[in-house]
Amino acid sequence: MNTNDKKRIVVIGGGFAGLNFIKHIDKKKFEVILVDKNNYHSFPPLFYQIASSGLEPGSICFPFRREFRKGRGRGASYVMGEVKNIDTSAKEVITEFERIGYDYLVIACGTTNNFFGNQTLVNDVFTVKSVSEAIRCRNEILYRLERASLTKDKELKRRLLSFVVIGGGATGVEVAGALGEMKRYIVPREYPGISQDDITIELLEGSDRLLGSMSEKSQKDALKYLGKLLVDVKLGHLLKEYSNDRITLDDGSTLTAGMVIWTAGITGVRIDLDSNLEPSRGGRWAVDGYNHIIGLDDNIYAIGDIALMCTDEYPKGHPQLAQVALQQGKNLAKNLNRGIFKTSFKYKDKGTMATVGRNLAVADIKHYHMSGFPAWAAWMMIHLLSILGMRNKISVLIDWIWAYFSYGTSLRLLLKMSRYPQKIDSF
Ligand SMILES: Cc1cc2nc3c(=O)[nH]c(=O)nc-3n(C[C@H](O)[C@H](O)[C@H](O)COP(=O)(O)OP(=O)(O)OC[C@H]3O[C@@H](n4cnc5c(N)ncnc54)[C@H](O)[C@@H]3O)c2cc1C
Repeated sequence: MNTNDKKRIVVIGGGFAGLNFIKHIDKKKFEVILVDKNNYHSFPPLFYQIASSGLEPGSICFPFRREFRKGRGRGASYVMGEVKNIDTSAKEVITEFERIGYDYLVIACGTTNNFFGNQTLVNDVFTVKSVSEAIRCRNEILYRLERASLTKDKELKRRLLSFVVIGGGATGVEVAGALGEMKRYIVPREYPGISQDDITIELLEGSDRLLGSMSEKSQKDALKYLGKLLVDVKLGHLLKEYSNDRITLDDGSTLTAGMVIWTAGITGVRIDLDSNLEPSRGGRWAVDGYNHIIGLDDNIYAIGDIALMCTDEYPKGHPQLAQVALQQGKNLAKNLNRGIFKTSFKYKDKGTMATVGRNLAVADIKHYHMSGFPAWAAWMMIHLLSILGMRNKISVLIDWIWAYFSYGTSLRLLLKMSRYPQKIDSF
């Protein structure tokens, strides 16, 4: 329990929302403890670049302990743990290692993949919702390219090199575009045993458009750019079944799918409470305008992707985007610092962007649409500025400049798991 006279705030999750809350909360007034299952903050918008060997994981991740040594994070502390339960009566969060008491609780643990109860998907598809998932994806893509280079068996080659991305949101478009760049620029140069025609990249989207939340112009441009990168887009199709490297669509047609990358669904990270309160739509906690969870004590809040704040402007809740998470974190910290909850949350929409490939991006900023090189340059600049740490910014910039001039990615290391030791410690 808290032994000093400061009230203790426990924050579950150090993503955009949790970390920005910690940066803005007054550490002279509150004792702040971050509990996160990973010991680092990561930058999801660039996970697809890890999956496609464009960036190293270390360039877009930052250890919490370093972040809390200086600057705005100074004074907060970090403990590793995955929170599964909260005992609201005892005011404690429960991890696999310990129980941690709190006076105020901020839930900011974001979302995870949603497979809509389909166990085949859980078993067989690849995902890019975390750094480790993106690394697994990268290894699989590289393995398939190497393995396909070794075989003369046309059928095996076709299976190895048939990639299907499911979900035409920003992540799906970006993953498919990155695979398309590999097919277009890297394979002809570095894999003589593979011809471009051996590779198929298909992007499946259930609705009749890509990038559903963006302008019609952005949607059309993204479709055009994917075509340039040799990606075959199938709109208005839902996956019905996936087995033995074959996808069956809702209209009964089938396609070969050696590697499926699933980007089509997310749901809030599940944490059970001792009270009967259940999360709302999308596994998100329903909150009021101050991010207080409706139906719980006054001292429990949810921010970022896990929070569902329905307003006149956003009757189905805010979009699950980095800016919403950052702004909610800051707003809640300001209210707690003041001790009076007088500023309700108002989202300032700074626009949305998606990049398909080199010089090919789309951006909607207020009512203004950008595409091609200007959108791509703006996308790079904004992402560079948002990544934590000067070393990381420089390393990402160098990798991007290198890739721009070399038309390739230099980080295609297929890192296999080591066999030893074989014991598994659990303490
Ligand atoms: C691949 C991808 C691409 C994206 N691209 C964009 C983009 O281009 N632009 C944009 O605006 N948004 C983008 N987003 C969405 C954006 O990343 C999210 O809106 C944002 O990260 C939400 O912030 P958050 O703090 O709520 O959650 P997160 O950033 O997801 O952080 C959650 C934190 O909680 C931790 N955690 C999770 N469960 C537990 C637990 N049980 N116990 C302890 N810790 C836990 C995690 O380790 C993580 O550190 C993208 C998301 C993904 C996955």
